[in-house]
Amino acid sequence: MCGIVGYVGPKPAASLLVEGLKRLEYRGYDSAGLAITSDKGIKIGKSVGRVSVLENLVKTTGGFDGFCGVAHTRWATHGEPSEPNAHPHSGLTKSGHTIALVHNGIIENYIPLRKYLADRGHVFESETDTEVLAKLVAEVYNGDLEKAVQTALREVRGGYAIAVICDNEPHTIVAARKGSPLIVGIADSAYVVASDASAIIAHTTQVITLDDYQVVRLCAGAEDKKGDGGPWAVDFRTTTIDNVSVAREVTELEFDLEQIELGGYEHFMLKEIMEQPEAIRNCLRGRIDHREGRVVLGGLSAITRDLIRAHRFIITAQGTAYHAGLIGEYLLEDLAKVPARCEYASEFRYRNPIIEEGTVAIAVSQSGETADTLAALTEAKERGAIALGVVNSVGSTISRETDAGVYLHVGPEIGVASTKAFVGQVAVLTLISLYLGKRRFLSDEVVKAYLRQLETLPDLVSRVLEQSDHIRKCVEDCIDRDNWLFLGRGYNYPVAIEGALKLKEISYIHAEGMPAAEMKHGPIALIDKGMPVVFVATRGSQYDKVISNIEEVRARGGRTLVVATEGDEDIHKYADAVFTVPDIAEPLQPMLTVIPLQILAYHAAVLRGHDVDKPRNLAKSVTVE
Ligand code: GLU
Repeated sequence: MCGIVGYVGPKPAASLLVEGLKRLEYRGYDSAGLAITSDKGIKIGKSVGRVSVLENLVKTTGGFDGFCGVAHTRWATHGEPSEPNAHPHSGLTKSGHTIALVHNGIIENYIPLRKYLADRGHVFESETDTEVLAKLVAEVYNGDLEKAVQTALREVRGGYAIAVICDNEPHTIVAARKGSPLIVGIADSAYVVASDASAIIAHTTQVITLDDYQVVRLCAGAEDKKGDGGPWAVDFRTTTIDNVSVAREVTELEFDLEQIELGGYEHFMLKEIMEQPEAIRNCLRGRIDHREGRVVLGGLSAITRDLIRAHRFIITAQGTAYHAGLIGEYLLEDLAKVPARCEYASEFRYRNPIIEEGTVAIAVSQSGETADTLAALTEAKERGAIALGVVNSVGSTISRETDAGVYLHVGPEIGVASTKAFVGQVAVLTLISLYLGKRRFLSDEVVKAYLRQLETLPDLVSRVLEQSDHIRKCVEDCIDRDNWLFLGRGYNYPVAIEGALKLKEISYIHAEGMPAAEMKHGPIALIDKGMPVVFVATRGSQYDKVISNIEEVRARGGRTLVVATEGDEDIHKYADAVFTVPDIAEPLQPMLTVIPLQILAYHAAVLRGHDVDKPRNLAKSVTVE
C-alpha cells in the first residue's frame, strides 16, 4: 500500500534512499523513516509527515553513514501515523544484533505473534502489525539473515513486501513479497529494491521482479565470499520462503515515470477502478474467520456489547460516502435487524437531531477529514451517541474522534472521483452488519453463506471489469446527450444515485439518480427520444417492477442502458445496451452493480475530453463546510 526503498552498493545510502522515497510520495503518505547499517551498527531515523521532514532530520542529526539501508513511507493500517509507528521497526537478536525491517501490507496474525514474542522478552514500541515481523526475524536469527527471514515468513499470514537489514551483515539486504509489489533493480555494483519502479529508474533499467513467497538476498561490498578486500563483489540470489532456489530473469524496465506511477493506466481513476478486486481483498483480509464462520473486527471488539444492544444507527456522510451510507442503512436493517438511517452530515448537524439512549452514529469518509461529517459526528457524540468511524485514512481526525471504527484498507485513493473507497465503504458496512447480525438474529448458516459469497467478490468484480471496452462503445452512442437518468430499486437505488454522481462529477453531464418508482411521480416528463436512462435491473426481489419501469421509459423513446444479471437473456428485449454482473445475494449486489456505472462515467469524461483525475471545482478531501 505504501513505499519501500532499499539500497546496497558503493554510494552513501541515506541520500539515495531519501530521493527514492520522494519518488514514491506522489500517492501522499503520512510518515517516513530509514535505517542505515554500517560497521558502527544500525542507525534509524523516523518522522511524521512528508519525506522532506525526514530529509531534514537526516541532514541535521548526522550519523546516517553507510552503504546499505532500507527506507519506507507509511500508509498506516495499524496504529496512527506517529514516530513510534513509522517504519523501520527493529528487533534484537539473541546474539545482541539489531534487525531493521520495512513492510508494506498487513500481517493478519500479528496478535498471537505479538503475544508469543512478548512472552520471549521482546519489548514492543509501536501499535503496528509490522513490528512483530521485525521481532520475529530477530527471534529466529542465527547468523544468517536470509534464513531468518524465510523462517519468520513461514509463520506469517497476510500480505507483505518487506526489506530487512542486520548489523551483523552490513552489506546485505533481504527482501520478500506476498501480495504486495516489490522490484529489484540491478545497477553498477549496487542493488536497489523498491515497491514501485519509480524509485528504481534513476539508477537502472535492469530489474528482476519477485513472485509471491519469494525471497531475494542482495549483497554488495566487502562481504564477498573471499573476504580479501578484493574487487567490489555483488551477488544476489532468489529462493522461496521454503529455501528452494528459484531462477529469476533480468528484464528491461520501461521509462516513462508517469506511466509507472499510473501502472500503465491513463488515469488514476481508471487504475483505481481496475484495482478494485485487490482493494476488496485487502479490505476483507483477516476479517473473515472461515472455521467459525464469523466476521472479525478488532476495531469494534471493545464496544461490541453496546453495539448489540443499540436501538438505532445513524449514518452520516457526504457525497459518494453518503451513497455508501445509504446502502449501509439497508444492510443494517436487513441483516442486523436494527433501525438505521443515513443522513447528509450537513443536514443532520443543524436540524437539532434527537439522539435517544442506545444510538450509534457512524461517520463514513474516505479521508476521515470531511468537515461536515466530522461536525455531525461531534454533534451526535455530544448528544450521547456512541461514535463509530468507517474511514480509509488511518489516524485521520474522524478516526481519532470516534469510540471505535473499522478502516477500509483499500490503499490511497488519488482520483478525485471516489471508486475503490466506495466499494470499500460498502464492504465494511456489510461486514459490520454481518458482525451484528450474527450476534442478533442471523443463523450461523446464513452468515456463513454471505461470507462465502463475499470472498468470491474480487473475482466477480474482475469479470465485470472485462466489459470496459463494451461499455465505452455504448457510451459513445449517447455521448452527445446532456441529460441522463439513473434508476434502481432496493439495494440498487443508492447505486443509481452514485452512478449519476459519478457521471456529473467528471463528465459534467447533468444526471439524476432516483428510486425507479419515483420516476413516474414527475421526472418521467423529462424523457424524450434518445434520452439515456441507466437502469440497475439485476435479478432479485424487485426485478419485475424494474422491468415495468424500463417499459415505461421505452414507451417514451428513451434509450435504456441496463445493468443486468449474467445469463438473463430476457433483458435484451428491454435494453438498448446491457452490462452484466455475476449473480450474487441481493445485499452484496451494490459492490458489483456500481462497477459498470463507474466505468461508464469514466469513458464519458474521456470521450468529452475532460481531466478525469482533476475535475473542475472539486477537491479530493472536502475540509470546509
Ligand atoms: N500495516 C503496516 C502499518 O500500519 C504497514 C502499512 C503500509 O502498508 O504502509 O504500519
